[in-house]
Amino acid sequence: MKVYTKEIKVRTHERFELIDITDPVEEAVRESGVRNGIALVFATHATAAVIANEHEQGLIEDIKNKVAEFTEPGSSKWRHNMIDDNAHAHIGSALFGQERIFPVVNGRLVRGVWQNIFLLEMDGPRHERRVIVTVLGE
Ligand code: ZN
Repeated sequence: MKVYTKEIKVRTHERFELIDITDPVEEAVRESGVRNGIALVFATHATAAVIANEHEQGLIEDIKNKVAEFTEPGSSKWRHNMIDDNAHAHIGSALFGQERIFPVVNGRLVRGVWQNIFLLEMDGPRHERRVIVTVLGE
């Protein structure tokens, strides 16, 4: 079995932002040489998430707005905000998830037409966010 790992580095510019990382993830799958297996896409952060959804500008704004509404940045009810100001981002990261797994079939990452892969930033801007892609298979 092959195991291939690649690190993708992303700079973010807004507090809430969706960064499309489909291309570098698919590049990692190609570089891996794996024909059939799985690809893990994992953000090494407690205040960001990885999601798969449609890359449409209106929807991207909708998701950002709903995530902000749901996680309530700055709320005085979040105890973590007494030592830091990003409880909302930790909560979003915990609930939305720091990873997604995709099948790899015949050398290609399998995803739906409306499933681009995004890093969901919730505590930006950040100079460097890291996403690890591990491709496993044969
Ligand atoms: Zn924190």
